[in-house]
Amino acid sequence: MRLSQTFIKTLRTAPKDETARGAQYLSRAGFVHKELAGVYDYLPLGLKVLENIKNIIRKELNRIGCEEVLMSSLQNPEPWSKTDRWDIEKMDVWFRTELAAGGELGLAPTHEEPFTNMMRSYISSYKDLPVYAYQIQTKFRNELRAKSGIMRTREFIMKDLYSFSATKEDHDEFYHQVEKAYMKIYQELGIGEDTFETFASGGVFSKYSHEFQTLTEVGEDTIWFNEDKSVVLNEEVLNDEVLNDLGVKRSELTSAKAAEVGNIFTLGEKYSAPLGLVFNDKDGQRRVVTMGCYGIGVSRVMGVIAEKFADEKGLVWPKNIAPFKIHLISIGKAGKEQAEKLYKQHASEILFDDRDIRPGEKFADADLIGIPTRVVISDKTLAKNEIEVTDRKTGQTNLQKISSLTF
Ligand code: ATP
Ligand code: MG
Repeated sequence: MRLSQTFIKTLRTAPKDETARGAQYLSRAGFVHKELAGVYDYLPLGLKVLENIKNIIRKELNRIGCEEVLMSSLQNPEPWSKTDRWDIEKMDVWFRTELAAGGELGLAPTHEEPFTNMMRSYISSYKDLPVYAYQIQTKFRNELRAKSGIMRTREFIMKDLYSFSATKEDHDEFYHQVEKAYMKIYQELGIGEDTFETFASGGVFSKYSHEFQTLTEVGEDTIWFNEDKSVVLNEEVLNDEVLNDLGVKRSELTSAKAAEVGNIFTLGEKYSAPLGLVFNDKDGQRRVVTMGCYGIGVSRVMGVIAEKFADEKGLVWPKNIAPFKIHLISIGKAGKEQAEKLYKQHASEILFDDRDIRPGEKFADADLIGIPTRVVISDKTLAKNEIEVTDRKTGQTNLQKISSLTF
C-alpha cells in the first residue's frame, strides 16, 4: 500500500469524546472512523488488522474440528420467544424493528437461538453428533453506554462457536479443547502473557463459566489472582464458597483491571430443550442435545491490543496482526529509486510512505501507525550501501544491507 495513493490520512486530533489513548490513536492513524457513539467503520489498515485476528482464530478452531458458517443478522422472533428472550425485559440489548409486510424482527445480539433452531434440520441421531459450528459476524447490541473506542460498541464483530454433543462427557472433552485453543489464539495475537482464564459465574448446567481476561487499565472488569496467577477469578464470584472451592484465601489475592476478550459457557439443555433439539441415542432413546457456546470479541481484542501496547508516540502492533510487516520510508532521489524496487518485490508486506513530504512528518506517521519494523532508505545510507532498520517497540535502530531484510 502506498501512502500517496490511499484515501486515508493521519489526523491531528481524535473525535473529542474519545478518551482512551489507544482509541484516539486508532482514529488519528486512520484505522477506524467513528460514525456515532459505539459505531465504527474499519478503514484499510484497520480492516487488515481485523482480518489477521480472524485468521488466527480460524486456524486454531479449524484445527479442533470446527466448521465455519455465516448466519443471518435479521432474526425471526419465534425461536427467541420459545426461550423467552424476545422480550426486551429479558434481553435489554435488542435492536428491533417492524417489517413493512407486517410483523417484527430483530438484529441479532448473539446467535444461540438461530443456531439451535437450524440444527434441528441436521441433527436427529447420535450419528449426527458432535457438531461444532462457528461464525465471525457483526452483532448488534443496544448497550446503554459505549466505551473505550472499539472495546464496547453497539455494533461489533464477534466470533461465536456453538457445540452440540450427545453427552455431558463429550461436551466436557470439547470444552477443554476450546480452553486450550483459546490460550493459543491469545498467544498468537500477542497478548498471551497478560490473558488469563478466569472463573466466572455459571448457569444451571455448570457451576462456573470461564472468561478470558486481558490485563489493561482501560478494562471494565476487575479480576483477582494469587501470587503465581494459578487461580484467577472474576470479582462477581469472589465469595467464601468460591474461595473454598478454589482452595485460596482472600488475603492471598490481589486485583487488577482487565477486559473480557472471550468466554466459554456450558449451556447444557438451556436452549436445546425449549427449542426441541433432540436426537435418538444408540438405544433408540430420545435425548436432548448438550450444548456449549464460546465467544471471542474480535473487534474488542483489536481495541485491547491497541490500548495495551500504545506508547507516547502511537500504536505498536504485535507482529502477527500488524497490517504490514514493514513501514518503508524513502528520503532523497536515490533512496526513492531503491525503495520503489524493494516495494515492488514485496508489495503485500509493505506500507510505503512515498509521499512528497518532510522526513519528520513521515517518521511521526510511522510512529503513530505502529507497524513493527520501520525501514528508511535514504541517499545517505545508500552511499554506504545500507538501509536503516528500526524496531517500533524498542526504538532500536541498526544499519543493514538491503539483502538482509527478512519478510
Ligand atoms: P460484556 O460483559 O463485556 O458485556 P458479554 O458477557 O455480554 O460481555 P458475550 O455476549 O458472551 O459477552 O460476547 C462474547 C464476547 O464479545 C465478549 O467476551 C466480548 O469480548 C465481546 N463483546 C461483548 N459485548 C461487546 C460490545 N458491546 N462491544 C464489543 N465487544 C463485545
Ligand atoms: Mg454484555
